[in-house]
Amino acid sequence: MKETMTAAYLPGNSTVEMRTVPVPAPGHGEVLLRVKASTICGSDIRCIYHEHLGKGPEGYQGVIAGHEPCGQIVAEGPGCRRFKTGDRVIVYHISGCGVCNDCRRGYMISCTSEKYRRAYGWQRDGGMAEYMIAEEKDLIALPDELSFADGAQVACGFGTVYEGLQKIGIDGNDAVLITGLGPVGLATGALCRKLGANKIIGIDVVAERMKIALDLGLCDAVLASGPDNVAEVKALTGGFGVERAVDCSANATARATAIRATRKWGKIVLLGEGGSVQFNPSPDIIHDQKTIYGSWVTSTWLMEELVERLVRWNLHPAEIITHRFPLERAADAYALMASGKCGKVAVCADEELK
Ligand SMILES: [Zn+2]
Ligand SMILES: [Zn+2]
Repeated sequence: MKETMTAAYLPGNSTVEMRTVPVPAPGHGEVLLRVKASTICGSDIRCIYHEHLGKGPEGYQGVIAGHEPCGQIVAEGPGCRRFKTGDRVIVYHISGCGVCNDCRRGYMISCTSEKYRRAYGWQRDGGMAEYMIAEEKDLIALPDELSFADGAQVACGFGTVYEGLQKIGIDGNDAVLITGLGPVGLATGALCRKLGANKIIGIDVVAERMKIALDLGLCDAVLASGPDNVAEVKALTGGFGVERAVDCSANATARATAIRATRKWGKIVLLGEGGSVQFNPSPDIIHDQKTIYGSWVTSTWLMEELVERLVRWNLHPAEIITHRFPLERAADAYALMASGKCGKVAVCADEELK
């Protein structure tokens, strides 16, 4: 085992700082992973890369970046009960206290312990390094049928989408509107397709993203963001609007479109973080009997269910990764993700770079 490793930090001025640090040793209940794939999230760009905006759960504590890691265990500390050296694993990206009500539900994202809730890549070292420490309780087994890059996609993006779609329910009856075709929007298209939706409409402003959604067959129609979007969606759905809408944009106009382009009795889920929205409760939701859900990340048990479904559906989340970089080029990876002119961007090692 090497003694030192390369790791990426985000000083908050739209740059990446590479440092050489000791390879950590796993403590009780922890494992050491060789990181094979570590993807970049919109939240990394929004809250850390440009400037350190976040507070509380979104506060960056100057640790090794990267909260979407997937890798292989190379050493285990004492006290591990299930996982061992050689196992391929996804890391659920928030390590909770394990004993509060939210943790007991599997939603460590919502852990209420100020002392013990620490997200990888935010308050504890994350995956933008050659190796990382993870707590055994945060691990999800990665099935052989899925690649490490597939697994990194589950860690945050696909898991978050799957949770939101469980809340609104998607099946073959539904036309779905996706506002925002970044990686989360693309994941929404991919999962809605497998859940049976056969009319999926996307809206975005970035031409590259619109093209990816069509090229990968994740949307049946893609609209450029504009003042006529509600009418355009209705025209594509017999004049009624969609049964289900998923906002992945966090944009005020797009959110209002998602609400207004949903038909009577329809359901809307908001996944995109930050920003605001304005709508008029009576005409926009009350009189049409609509329901708006909020959904934040997912639980460990639903993530386990999702990886099982991905294998059953032969769905490979890595398909929405458009660019892969070695760790030494992490700066280029973050800059590309910040430009938005891409699907998902991954930092990879070993077999995932070939
Ligand atoms: Zn993420
Ligand atoms: Zn907790």
